[in-house]
Amino acid sequence: MVTNIKPSKPRPAVGLEIVQNRLLASLLPADRALIEPHLEFVELAQGTSLFEPGDDVTHTYFPSAGTMVSFVLVMRDGRAVEAATIGREGAVGGIVSSGFKPAFARAAVQIPGSALRLGLGQLDEAKQRSATLRDLFSRYADVLLAQVLQSVACNARHSLQERCCRWLLTVHDRVAADQIALTQEALSEMLGVQRTTLTAIARRLQAKGFIQYSRGRILIKDRPGLERESCECYDAVSTHWERVLPEVKPQAVTQ
Ligand SMILES: [Zn+2]
Repeated sequence: MVTNIKPSKPRPAVGLEIVQNRLLASLLPADRALIEPHLEFVELAQGTSLFEPGDDVTHTYFPSAGTMVSFVLVMRDGRAVEAATIGREGAVGGIVSSGFKPAFARAAVQIPGSALRLGLGQLDEAKQRSATLRDLFSRYADVLLAQVLQSVACNARHSLQERCCRWLLTVHDRVAADQIALTQEALSEMLGVQRTTLTAIARRLQAKGFIQYSRGRILIKDRPGLERESCECYDAVSTHWERVLPEVKPQAVTQ
């Protein structure tokens, strides 16, 4: 697990990167002015851990289009399962708490790419100064919690194939591309299943023409097909987003 994150050099223009993250792009001009001077561009490699359980969270990360981070719970026997997926619609770290609180889960980079990050002290200060910024982050915390709560029900009640379809739709929204660069290991970890079990499901979805699966890559070919066979959980979370945070709701961009 890589934990060392360095700002990239040369530093690209932060202003251009802000539009890549829908949460940042939705900021009111006055709120953006509070945050923008403190944003830092970083490149996140696959497998990077932004923080581990117990680590002090020092930064909030805003993934750019194509970058995806998961909250992963690691069991004592080393097995891991994903609790939430965050991409260009959101942010990772210090969302619910303020100040340098310890992390509960691992935040792992599943799909590499760029992100902007902000020191938690700076975010807290900006929140103190702006009620609209506090409101935006509160609403984002609400939809993030909804995603986690729905996953609890989903993992207990729904078939692996339904969950896999839900997961593919969720990722499709977040990476904003039909080609998803993801290994089978990462996908099986996210769904909390053995790789052989996952391979069987992926073959079935490929036979239906929904996806095309090759080494380390998934191509979404038939999104409506995935929507039909997904459990209700994708829609449930999506509808909540629409009501609570419509300006940032994740949505697929088909190329
Ligand atoms: Zn479900």
